Amino acid sequence: MKFIPAFLLCLLSLCANAQTNILSTDTVAEEIMLGSYDPSTYLATTILNQPDTISQGISANVSPDSLHAYIETLRTFRNHNTGSDTVSSTNGIGAARRWAYSKFQQFSAANQNRLIPSYLQFDFTGDICGITEHRNILAVLPGTDTSDRSIILVEGHIDSRSENVCDTASLAQGMEDNASGTALVLELARVMSRYSYNHTIVFMITIGEEQGLYGAQAFATYAHQKGISIKAVLNNDVIGGIFCGHTSSVPSCPGYGNIDSTDVRLFSFGGFNSFHKGLARYVKLEYKEMILPFASVPMTINIMTPEDRTGRGGDHQPFRQLSYTAIRMTAANEDGDANVTDTAYHDRQHTTRDTLGVDTNLDGIIDSFFVDFNYLARNTVINGNAIGMMGISPKTPDFTLTTNNQNNLTVNITQQQQYNTYRIGLRTTTNDWDSVYTFSGTLSYTIGNLSPAVYIVSVASVDTVGVESIFSEEKMASLGINQINGAQVSVELLQNSPNPSDEITNISVLVNRPIQYKEAYISIRDILGREVKRLPLQLKEGINETAYHHGDHASGTFIYTLVIDGKAIQSKRMVFTN
Ligand SMILES: [Zn+2]
Repeated sequence: MKFIPAFLLCLLSLCANAQTNILSTDTVAEEIMLGSYDPSTYLATTILNQPDTISQGISANVSPDSLHAYIETLRTFRNHNTGSDTVSSTNGIGAARRWAYSKFQQFSAANQNRLIPSYLQFDFTGDICGITEHRNILAVLPGTDTSDRSIILVEGHIDSRSENVCDTASLAQGMEDNASGTALVLELARVMSRYSYNHTIVFMITIGEEQGLYGAQAFATYAHQKGISIKAVLNNDVIGGIFCGHTSSVPSCPGYGNIDSTDVRLFSFGGFNSFHKGLARYVKLEYKEMILPFASVPMTINIMTPEDRTGRGGDHQPFRQLSYTAIRMTAANEDGDANVTDTAYHDRQHTTRDTLGVDTNLDGIIDSFFVDFNYLARNTVINGNAIGMMGISPKTPDFTLTTNNQNNLTVNITQQQQYNTYRIGLRTTTNDWDSVYTFSGTLSYTIGNLSPAVYIVSVASVDTVGVESIFSEEKMASLGINQINGAQVSVELLQNSPNPSDEITNISVLVNRPIQYKEAYISIRDILGREVKRLPLQLKEGINETAYHHGDHASGTFIYTLVIDGKAIQSKRMVFTN
């Protein structure tokens, strides 16, 4: 990812119109993404749309060898920087994108031509590394039901880089960053096109990520301008490596030489009531319930608090900025923090050293790989399973939450009441659900005997074949704490989440009744009472959340205090472990 200044400029959409003349080269693909098509045109002869069939089919058919083969081919293009050769048939971004397009065509032919390949073409005002016209590569798998036109998008960038972000001459294979993500998207298109889904699924390979997320931004802008509804975006970047480098961006991996092929990280924006975090929890729940019971190598999915690693970015962000639900999936370990200007930097990320592996016995064949194809396959299955379930999922309900303020919560389903079964996700101080409840045959459910705490609740519908919807927005209630004479105090400072934290944590204040005040802030002090940060805060009724970037401050215990009009109202302790 390019240095923050350019990125920030684009975040502030100062160069929002840098992408112009954005179009889908295949107009049918565009119509399908808009939902204006006849699903019967794309029906498979045999409709495979049952949850177990899809889930176990993806799990059985995603192949490490297939993933390896794509990466070997990407390697042959030598340097596929966004600004590299577009004419050559063997080198450069042009050859790479035409090859990816041909793979989508191949997968379509193998599946009754139900997959519609296309380029998303756009011009970039000025240029990206010397080139004005650019193309993302995508393939559209039409859904069988256009009543809900929202599409599901899985993406990864194909452009690579070396030390200089516009170097189109030196070796820049980008095997971990991001041939791994490109291979994942291709493999999902190959395997998932065999099944049928209510929702349309779009497999997209972007360019221009390293220079400023430009390809993803082009599609997000295009979708926004055209009115394409997007249910979820899963961005996969640096998703196949298992080695920790001498350096790695915070939240960092354990240290040089550490190997991890059973953990993966989900990054997403926000804390309380974030649909991005809700999607991350959904991906994890579907893995736990549909794949883990059969998995020969169990994976641990870690829901991270920040939207991305410190000072880094990814192709999920342009979508989040346009209010589409989007997450990023990245390996637990990275070889380098991309600080290539540091002369002591020896790691592989963002350098000519981001290659496939080492030929240890010098027989001319790589035999020790930096990308672990089995690990990459497991991450591919996690993606495919979640996308498959979302693709056939029922509609998300809404609910009201009531409490007796002591020890129970009652959920009442208010919208999408047509289902027989619903689920409740309940969490307290972490990004994960502490528990998930299921109830049937009623629209109201009470969870009792809860210990005093602040509870965060969301709900999902479950259809007749046991598939749950994306979970609803979150609602919060505090039980048995901060009460005066049995009544909730008007303002409550809540325990930060996550706690302990390694780098970033969310601090929330629950306002039970509107209050009159002039100024409010959170004062953060170290154990000696020295103020290290002040976070201004708006206090509206409900939850008011602010993110605290502890960054590289010392680890240990810190005290945070809610101050209203100069008066300290409440304090709590939080712990940092970085
Ligand atoms: Zn990348």
